[in-house]
Amino acid sequence: MDCLFCSILKGEIPSTKVYEDEAVYAFRDINPQAPTHVLVIPKTHIPSADAVSAENSAAVAAVFEAIPKIAKLEGLEQGYRVITNIGEHGCQSVKHLHFHVLGGKQLSETMD
Ligand code: 5GP
Ligand code: ZN
Repeated sequence: MDCLFCSILKGEIPSTKVYEDEAVYAFRDINPQAPTHVLVIPKTHIPSADAVSAENSAAVAAVFEAIPKIAKLEGLEQGYRVITNIGEHGCQSVKHLHFHVLGGKQLSETMD
């Protein structure tokens, strides 16, 4: 299977690590949309949030346990936004579940 983020997890493609534990990896987005723009991914391949089920949701829980730690590491005390894009209308470009953590500035009120 050809997956960019699985290649990043294997170290085949370099990335700037922000956080890692046994289930989660977080790294800086190559094209940041805010002063902090971190991608948080499960180490298991899940195609998108639309593929979350009782069988794999522990990996999602691990991601959400990691996010507050990452926010603290990044100094996002004033708040931040977590986004996951799904499919074509959601503009998902990488088909490995990932959560964008955006912060470090006042974000816009619109989400579309
Ligand atoms: P999506 O559009 O699927 O929600 O988000 C994919 C994100 O991955 C984009 O924000 C894009 O900038 C980022 N990205 C794409 N290729 C790479 C890469 O090779 N390295 C890193 N660090 N980020 C990438
Ligand atoms: Zn993958």
